[in-house]
Amino acid sequence: MQGKIGLEEHFAIPDTLMDSAGFVPDDHWPELEARLFDIHGKRLELMDKHGMEMMILSLNAPAVQAIVDPVKANEIARRANDYLAEQVAKRPDRFQAFAALPMQDPDMAIRELERCMKDLGMRGALVNGFSQANSPENCLYYDMPQYWPFWEVVQKLDAPFYLHPRNPIASWAQIYEGHSWLMGPTWAFGQETAVHALRLMGSGLFDAYPGLKVVLGHMGEGLPFSMWRVDNRNAWVKTTPKYKAKRRIADYFHENFWLTTSGNFRTQTLIDAMLEIGSDRILFSTDWPFENVDHAADWFDTASISEADRVKIGRTNAQKLFKLTNE
Ligand code: MN
Repeated sequence: MQGKIGLEEHFAIPDTLMDSAGFVPDDHWPELEARLFDIHGKRLELMDKHGMEMMILSLNAPAVQAIVDPVKANEIARRANDYLAEQVAKRPDRFQAFAALPMQDPDMAIRELERCMKDLGMRGALVNGFSQANSPENCLYYDMPQYWPFWEVVQKLDAPFYLHPRNPIASWAQIYEGHSWLMGPTWAFGQETAVHALRLMGSGLFDAYPGLKVVLGHMGEGLPFSMWRVDNRNAWVKTTPKYKAKRRIADYFHENFWLTTSGNFRTQTLIDAMLEIGSDRILFSTDWPFENVDHAADWFDTASISEADRVKIGRTNAQKLFKLTNE
């Protein structure tokens, strides 16, 4: 399929590069480093070769979210966003941008989101899970009350918010002890991000701000497969839910969430996501440079779905969600 648009597509700046070390063996690091720094070279060649018209670019992970000092986090976010805006300005027909945000301080995050959306023309924000603020052990999740003014601004700006994975910190990851192979994209990323998304759904955030649009990668971090059970376990026991939100968790999943195919190139999984959330809320992505554009595109272009759904997932859903057509 030609004209595909991807929205989980990363780059790095020197300040954040080393956050991506350790996710591939040492002998692959020079290649990953080159891929992260490149925007207009090999990346564009691969896009041309595999029918990708556009990437909405975002900073690597955990990057800003792991910078404990809020002032420093704000400084690095601004530096990354300024650099990204310059790169997008060179080829706005091929690249658009997500803002990195210093979520350590909700007021700073609000100011940077407003600057990125209004002054730099960005399409939304991509945040790498919880933020560590003031102490490495202080992990902040965005259902917490101090973030609700931030979400009010996100809704007002109609800015899609991509909740991207990061690993849990060591003291919160005892379950993986002795099994470091489970960290990262193998398992821990999905677990961490799915729980964060469920916290948002259960908090009542989407009752207060029903216009919020949250995007999850990796075909929904396992949530489509589990969503029915979240609401229906022990259904013979008639009790009111223990969470603050007013409706079933699945209602928020169906109305406030969008999913991408990043790093999860499996037709069986796509079909499950389509049956749970619908093809209007699934969007093509690769997770470049951690996954290959050809692996994503070769799979997607031939996956056993209707051509109408392929066009929606590959292109038109992204055009609608990010308002890429009417200008
Ligand atoms: Mn990613």
